[in-house]
Amino acid sequence: MKNFTCIVCPNGCNLCIDESSLEVTGNTCKRGIDFAKNELTHPMRTIATTVRTSFKECPVISVRVTSDIPKEKIFDCMKEINKTVVSKKVKCGDVIIKNILGLGVDVIATTSRLMEVK
Ligand code: SF4
Repeated sequence: MKNFTCIVCPNGCNLCIDESSLEVTGNTCKRGIDFAKNELTHPMRTIATTVRTSFKECPVISVRVTSDIPKEKIFDCMKEINKTVVSKKVKCGDVIIKNILGLGVDVIATTSRLMEVK
């Protein structure tokens, strides 16, 4: 048996999964079942963070990945994001890093603040 706290919604249900039968208990809804099975076999996470820019008036902007990535790739992705400096004006939804680490996921801006700087 393995225990997880479900992070799909703020309820944070305490899940328990049987590693052989994959039977899940402790969930309040079906999403908890899917989360526990994924967490056991291939845990995924999202990234929401900031990236540096070359604009003095707005030295960082917020970004996120377009979909979940394998949990074990988070640190490698953060290294790529931390190496990046945005040097042109971008708006919310613009791609900052295309297909990061070949994962089929983009890093996109979640703000249009750079459009307001001079
Ligand atoms: S099992 Fe359902 S209700 Fe419980 S934390 Fe997960 S998503 Fe939320």
